[in-house]
Amino acid sequence: MILRSIGYGLSLAVVVLLPAGAEPDRGEPTKVVDPGPPGGPPSDAIVLFDGKDLSRWRGRDGDARWKVEDGVLTIAPGTGDIVTRQGFGDCQLHLEWRIPAEVKGEGEGRGNSGLKFHEAYEIQILDSHQSRSNAMVQAGAVYKQHRPLVNACRKPGEWQSYDIVFRTPRFDAEKKLARSGTFTVFLNGVLIQDHAKILGRTNSTKPVPPEERQPLLLQDHGSPVSFRNVWIRELAPEDGA
Ligand code: MG
Repeated sequence: MILRSIGYGLSLAVVVLLPAGAEPDRGEPTKVVDPGPPGGPPSDAIVLFDGKDLSRWRGRDGDARWKVEDGVLTIAPGTGDIVTRQGFGDCQLHLEWRIPAEVKGEGEGRGNSGLKFHEAYEIQILDSHQSRSNAMVQAGAVYKQHRPLVNACRKPGEWQSYDIVFRTPRFDAEKKLARSGTFTVFLNGVLIQDHAKILGRTNSTKPVPPEERQPLLLQDHGSPVSFRNVWIRELAPEDGA
């Protein structure tokens, strides 16, 4: 009886000590999301490319001029990078990409493209199948900042998938970095970046605007790399920031 009273007292104390707004019971049902077919898109995703058109994208000076054919988007080399018309902050991105079956060139000349969050932080796209060259710039690298944990690349000509969680850098009122952003990346279902800390704009020291929502960029690096099934889910901030 005494022990039971102490126990009761302790649980009361726990309840009293919980800060205002805390939720001790996290067993309530969560929002339902239909995951869709394998590879998605899930029901709460914004589809950025569904195989039909580039209406959610634009070029640097007007409409995006890449080629859409048979449900596939292919870079028209020389027409420039394309960016989403909408800006995104914290997000989950799915994108499938294919290096041409016949790759020409060496090193970073082999089927180079890239995916830049906030037009600034690049996850490399490149033919890196069994590559022995510089891992800091191979497919799945946070460009020149973090090499991928492993090389899970398929052969040129085969479809590959990225599933990426991007946490945006956070800036204070003086526009100074308050918390670094991170990338978590799966290539073909294999973890290759695990909360990798973003060390600033990749490959440039130019400052990045502090806005939390900015466009996503696909890079024209002169190779006819293809894409399909591109979708994004907006995520709530981790800390309620
Ligand atoms: Mg690149």
